[in-house]
Amino acid sequence: MEGNEVLRRSLLALSRSERLKRTVATLPVSSSVVARYVPGEATEDAVRAASELVSQGLTASLDYLGEDTLDRTQADAAVDAYVDVLKALAAAGLTPQAEVSVKLSAVGQALPGDGDRIAVDNARRICQAAAAAGTTVTLDMEDHTTTDSTLDILGRLRQDFPDTGAVLQSYLRRTEGDCRDLAYPGSRVRLCKGAYNEPASVAFQDKHEVDKAYVRGLRILMEGKGYPMVASHDPRLIALAARLAQDFGRAAGDFEYQMLYGIRPNEQQRLADEGHTVRVYMPYGVEWYGYLMRRLAERPANVAFFVRSLLSKR
Ligand SMILES: Cc1cc2nc3c(=O)[nH]c(=O)nc-3n(C[C@H](O)[C@H](O)[C@H](O)COP(=O)(O)OP(=O)(O)OC[C@H]3O[C@@H](n4cnc5c(N)ncnc54)[C@H](O)[C@@H]3O)c2cc1C
Repeated sequence: MEGNEVLRRSLLALSRSERLKRTVATLPVSSSVVARYVPGEATEDAVRAASELVSQGLTASLDYLGEDTLDRTQADAAVDAYVDVLKALAAAGLTPQAEVSVKLSAVGQALPGDGDRIAVDNARRICQAAAAAGTTVTLDMEDHTTTDSTLDILGRLRQDFPDTGAVLQSYLRRTEGDCRDLAYPGSRVRLCKGAYNEPASVAFQDKHEVDKAYVRGLRILMEGKGYPMVASHDPRLIALAARLAQDFGRAAGDFEYQMLYGIRPNEQQRLADEGHTVRVYMPYGVEWYGYLMRRLAERPANVAFFVRSLLSKR
């Protein structure tokens, strides 16, 4: 394994370390390393950042940070936070440009016993609030042990809220099939590479294999009847998406690009200026640890910067 790959896997393993989390989580969200990726902790911070994006011609998907929740009260609090932010977005005139992204593990999927039922009920409450606010929900995809449950819950939510978005990860060997299953009219599908530490039995390990799988999945989505959401910062994949869209007769509004808050902002603006829909995924809240570690794992060059900010705090 290359050095970078070892570092990537270590960071992903650490993204689930409670011990390191306790040390790192003492960093204020305003510290430069966190603030690059997370605009703030409160609903107002998220609404302000969304408003800035919308004024620049971009759209947004807000993620109230939190995952792997093992506490029912915390799961319910996450739902309240979503309901709150959806009301605030509507009041600020930011819907439908701003929607929300939800991790089912933050709203109960990981709870022992009837986690799936709790997650469905909670996700349904968020979908209802989004519909009332005039916008949509996308269900993030987490590690492969949750894929079946998440797709099952997606199907149930889509019965009442057909515009609920799905996420598929090209590193999973199963994803080509899932792209085919989800390429039907009205189906919003975000395709990303995938951000978790996954075993070779279920996921491609080689970056080029993951990229090639992304191309295969994107072709299926672009050729299909759904609404593809191209979630990547990879210049080659962004260029390829434009070509595929042209090949399959899709105009600018028939698919969208998605990137993460703080990553390649100039490219986000360039695509929006060309007339494309560009959605910026914007996490906010206090539970930024797991999110930050996954972003660092994608870009080991950021790690030195991160360690310096930790040390300078002491
Ligand atoms: C909108 C959106 C939603 C997502 N939702 C999910 C999800 O639900 N589930 C999931 O598993 N994953 C999700 N991801 C993460 C995704 O799976 C990848 O881990 C991540 O996007 C990096 O892959 P990439 O396609 O940008 O390509 P990469 O090959 O990783 O990166 C391409 C280029 O982008 C830039 N770049 C990428 N990452 C960073 C970074 N952290 N810091 C600085 N520059 C960077 C660099 O210039 C890099 O060379 C999402 C990504 C996006 C954009």
